[in-house]
Amino acid sequence: MTEKVILTVAPTGAWPSKQDNPAIPLQPEEIAEDVYACWKAGASVAHIHVRDDNGLSSMNFEKFERTVEIIRSTDCGIVLNLTTSGQLGLKDEDRWRHLVALKPEMASYDCGTMNWLNTSVFENSPSFLEGLGNVMNEYNIKPEIEVFDTSFIYNALYYLKKGVLKAPLHFQFVLGAAGGIDATVENLVYLKSLIPTGSTWGAFGIGKGHMPVLYATIALGGHVRVGMEDNIYYLKGRLAKSNVEFVERVKRLVNEMGKETATPDEAREILKLKNIPKNKNN
Ligand code: ZN
Repeated sequence: MTEKVILTVAPTGAWPSKQDNPAIPLQPEEIAEDVYACWKAGASVAHIHVRDDNGLSSMNFEKFERTVEIIRSTDCGIVLNLTTSGQLGLKDEDRWRHLVALKPEMASYDCGTMNWLNTSVFENSPSFLEGLGNVMNEYNIKPEIEVFDTSFIYNALYYLKKGVLKAPLHFQFVLGAAGGIDATVENLVYLKSLIPTGSTWGAFGIGKGHMPVLYATIALGGHVRVGMEDNIYYLKGRLAKSNVEFVERVKRLVNEMGKETATPDEAREILKLKNIPKNKNN
């Protein structure tokens, strides 16, 4: 059987603005419309952030609710993966309130703490990680373990042993974040070597490592993520016209390498998702 590659699109993120790239979707209606177009173009999973009315980083519940509601009201069958790290400095429970209410199939699980270089602390304390893991277990939400550096994997192994995380684990290697591990193929190969057998994994590079990490991830049998959360440039010096443009490129590359992008249902199977929405109609 042809190997399937799960294609996640991360259209918004917490940081880029319309000044950085006018095509970035920030409000629920535009995010939902963008996700729909990316699904049509071949994306399997959408990793969702929301912004406040001014376009700034936010974990505003109503914004999540509205975004998810619009996506679910269409025939868009994409897997929803909601962030738990859309805004710094929140109380633990304000980072998972939307998960309890909206029950997405997946959510991010940032398995460690890091400095965003000279700006702030990306804090994911032991109490947060334990609480979030328990909530995700209770509601059958699959954690996407985001790995910004090597130690995040060792933290995940600790929570696996403790029963807060359950096998099979799914990792997302984030290479090239300011303060995290650099976006090189060598680092990708090293991170991949550390995860337990039977885990699934994806990766992406931010900035100049975007394309090398993308090619290497497909070659090494990983899943891929693209979108303006991670890169506002399509190529050096040329802004992306849309998130769809990134999705279309990955689809071409995957096909050229003799593989296929996974449909949302194939992604559900590969990731062993349990919380499949009842109104899913694709
Ligand atoms: Zn994110």
